[in-house]
Amino acid sequence: MTDLTSLTLAEAKAGLANKSFTSLELTDAHLAAMEKARALNAYVLETPDQARAMAKEADARLAKGEAGNLEGIPLGIKDLFATKDVRLTACSKILDDFKPPYESTVTSQLWRDGAVMLGKLNNDEFAMGSSNETSAFGPVVNPWRREKTGFIRAPEQDLTNKEGSVHWQMMRPTVEYDPTPLVPGGSSGGSASAVAAGLCFGATGTDTGGSIRQPAAFTGITGLKPTYGRCSRWGIVAFASSLDQAGPFARTVRDTAILMRSMAGHDPKDTTSVDLPVPDYEAAIGKSVKGMKIGIPKEYRIEGMSAEIEKLWAQGAQWLKAAGAELVEISLPHTKYALPAYYVVAPAEASSNLARYDGVRYGARVDGRNIVEMYENTRAAGFGPEVRRRIMIGTYVLSAGYYDAYYLRAQKVRTLIKQDFEEVFAQGVNAILTPATPSAAFGIGEKGKADPIEMYLNDIFTVTVNMAGLPGIAVPAGKDAQGLPLGLQLIGRPFDEETLFSLGDVIEQSAGRFTPAHWWA
Ligand code: GLN
Repeated sequence: MTDLTSLTLAEAKAGLANKSFTSLELTDAHLAAMEKARALNAYVLETPDQARAMAKEADARLAKGEAGNLEGIPLGIKDLFATKDVRLTACSKILDDFKPPYESTVTSQLWRDGAVMLGKLNNDEFAMGSSNETSAFGPVVNPWRREKTGFIRAPEQDLTNKEGSVHWQMMRPTVEYDPTPLVPGGSSGGSASAVAAGLCFGATGTDTGGSIRQPAAFTGITGLKPTYGRCSRWGIVAFASSLDQAGPFARTVRDTAILMRSMAGHDPKDTTSVDLPVPDYEAAIGKSVKGMKIGIPKEYRIEGMSAEIEKLWAQGAQWLKAAGAELVEISLPHTKYALPAYYVVAPAEASSNLARYDGVRYGARVDGRNIVEMYENTRAAGFGPEVRRRIMIGTYVLSAGYYDAYYLRAQKVRTLIKQDFEEVFAQGVNAILTPATPSAAFGIGEKGKADPIEMYLNDIFTVTVNMAGLPGIAVPAGKDAQGLPLGLQLIGRPFDEETLFSLGDVIEQSAGRFTPAHWWA
């Protein structure tokens, strides 16, 4: 029997429909895979009892012919989404063993459609990071490893010719792997690692500045950051409310589209959620992209960009052209200000959102002689260094005297970035193609130790999309010289995720799929 965890979500749906296997079998196969893959540190909480109970209920509905969009499909949930009565940590010590008495809207929609919860996935603390190294649970390991290629002589392959005098020994290329553990990207690193390693068919993520697209690119899978307002933020731990958006991860573009249909939708509990009908995103897969105008923004050709990324980008453009799309060079002149402006706006909002963790309402408390000291002790003990840095930057840029110089200016830059995109779309551009990240995955501990800016630079291609509230998808498109996956990003018009799925599928059909060698079990 095929390994159930290596199926795509669409294949699993089909197999459940024609009774090739049950949801309980799918669920058990994933729970077993998760147990063997604990070295990846992708899950911070496994919920096997809940998973099996949900799978049995799904099997009962399947038997009655009442299957929802995700009936019986095991998924992983980023530990930033509240799931009722299940520990929610945001991978911070400050939440301790907080168990929310409520369910996030996005997860409730997944369960409404029959999905099965396998557990909660690791992430950067409060989603602040690009490598999943700021988690209180420790770093997540990327299932990909760098290749060391060599040739070995095939043993016993003695191809003696007829005369028996000449021996031909075959040379067989072998791949050896460098055991250096690599980051899966962040902040949704657990989600990306779990999906890439076959520890769930799909996962939820959140993306404030790139936290879905960058880890998807680092692990060779697809990740979508929807238009701001497309998915409800209710019940998701807030980082920067005007930038945060939930979205799906999966191993194929089609699977991502299937998940998106269940995650999207209007929610009166989130005032920024938009009341638009949810399309059948899967129907966009395989749709012709003939005549579509694809913008190639010259400002994304950044100084010092590696030849590999240049090549990948050109290759992606050629694939879209071969599928009938038209390539046009475009300009997004304010791109270079996006990253600094993001690192003003995001910490400002974070400093306000994180004020609620005071030792009174949630989780951990460290006592003091008075209430102020209790706040201070709790927050000093509960927040990690990156979160403390963001709170300090945010408080600074919002304080009197600096507000105009930093915060207001950053908001103005944000408007200009948004206008850049609006102008390009007004010229008839349907989507924009860029690299997803400036490099492939790096080693755990390799970046950002001496200078946090080095880590922030990871988001150079992704933050503009959040600043403008647009949808963006990362699709694996190739590998670097060390055999690590690289992704391309497509940026779309507001609420036009369907075009991104159609174009993303063209890239996937051209590039093929990317699966890491299974070394961890
Ligand atoms: N890496 C970015 C940051 O640290 C984005 C994180 C995110 O999208 N949640 O802020």
